[in-house]
Amino acid sequence: MSTVALTINGQEVTVPKGTRLLDAATGAGFFIPTFCHDENSPNYGGCRICVVEVKGARNLVASCCAEALDGMVVETESEAVVEARKTILELMLANHPVDCLTCDKAGDCRLQDYAFRYDVKAPTLGGERKDYEFDDSNPYINRDMNKCILCAKCVRTCQDVEERAVISLAYRGFNTKVAPALDGNLATSECVSCGRCVSVCPVGALTYKSLSGKTRSWEVAKEQVTCTWCDAGCQFDLLRKNGKAVGVVAKAPSEGRPLCLKGRLGLELRYNDEPMAPMIKKGDQYVEVSWAEALGLDEIIEKLK
Ligand code: SF4
Ligand code: SF4
Ligand code: SF4
Repeated sequence: MSTVALTINGQEVTVPKGTRLLDAATGAGFFIPTFCHDENSPNYGGCRICVVEVKGARNLVASCCAEALDGMVVETESEAVVEARKTILELMLANHPVDCLTCDKAGDCRLQDYAFRYDVKAPTLGGERKDYEFDDSNPYINRDMNKCILCAKCVRTCQDVEERAVISLAYRGFNTKVAPALDGNLATSECVSCGRCVSVCPVGALTYKSLSGKTRSWEVAKEQVTCTWCDAGCQFDLLRKNGKAVGVVAKAPSEGRPLCLKGRLGLELRYNDEPMAPMIKKGDQYVEVSWAEALGLDEIIEKLK
């Protein structure tokens, strides 16, 4: 296999020919932030937060799309790079609710992490702000497009991996937003609630409804579980808080196989630690009953007698 040798932050790095700069740098242990980069739909280069300085290049280079070349001299945290990243974050936060105190994604949010790392505080830039309606129409997924940073990972995942293309980038310029067909809500779309878009969203724009308000991200332990509902054997993350199961979530496509709703909901039922009582419809209402009543045991015993 042919290789190339380059210098990253003063360190000699040798990688196979064709390796992206991002992978060359992170593989050598250097940190590069990313929002839109996704292994399953690479080379998007939309958010530019991954820019690096390449000696001799006219502009900063998006490392997720650029190839590592022989003799390159790269800086991943130069003054120009840090300034560019700060500006990108300031622009994102200028149109963001910044309600990390109550956001379900806090603690597991790249925007929050990078703002901390690059010391970017509350919005400093003025101007028009987005004011979209919160979409909780889907029984499993909440969408808050005011928190969306337009990385398009959800769109690409739904199109390229899930092959459903339920959502896309609608409108243009300032009005660009992620939306189902005709800018409707998720409930009236063709969405199958697989949750893949949620698993790749780097911020709190897409979250699981079942976990909303239940826990902070750092309070849960993740355990990998394999679905047994069919022979595909997809893997999910079971979330436990204080030892108690609180939810089952889809893994990012790069970490697992295609997932289906049956598997996720079936596992949620299987790992439900809440005591469950059977229900029977009496008149117009479902009411809780004993297992004996639900199974008709009294009736069977009477008939046997
Ligand atoms: S999406 Fe991230 S930055 Fe925005 S409010 Fe939620 S935690 Fe904070
Ligand atoms: S839940 Fe699945 S089908 Fe629905 S929008 Fe997200 S990726 Fe597409
Ligand atoms: S909803 Fe999330 S994944 Fe989709 S474009 Fe917005 S920030 Fe990116």
